[in-house]
Amino acid sequence: MQKIRKICIDEDVNKELLGLVSVNSMNETGGIFLGVYDNSGTCCTVKHVTGPGPRSVVSPSHVFFDADYLQMEQDRVLAKKPHYKFLGDWHYHPNKRKKPSQTDVAGLWSLSNDADYKLGRQAVIVILSKHWVKKIKMSGYTISRKNSIVEVPVEVKVIK
Ligand SMILES: [Zn+2]
Repeated sequence: MQKIRKICIDEDVNKELLGLVSVNSMNETGGIFLGVYDNSGTCCTVKHVTGPGPRSVVSPSHVFFDADYLQMEQDRVLAKKPHYKFLGDWHYHPNKRKKPSQTDVAGLWSLSNDADYKLGRQAVIVILSKHWVKKIKMSGYTISRKNSIVEVPVEVKVIK
């Protein structure tokens, strides 16, 4: 399976994503990415983003997703857009830390090895981190052949 080399985010989807992050909040937040792969399988494009769900639990250092909500959202979107796939997830660090924590690394590994999704080295996570009041940095990560975490570029662009 090809390794993801680039994560693209549709510009409109990026606006939604930033709208889900409250820069004044001290807490983490997050959600999932749905979208498509290009023909080479090395670039994924995020076409739909969710929040963590109404029963999520957030704190300054953790976000626990509402799994039922995420499954429901995914089913709802895929019923309309059957060519979309589950790509991975995102979360927000309410500080400057762009690197994945040990929990994040463990999360990416389990995403990559999930028996249902079979994402392998196509599993991605994106960490949004806060730099200044309104400056949000996005850092993408995937799994290398040696099972370590590697950073992949995230590009926001207008996708027709
Ligand atoms: Zn994190």
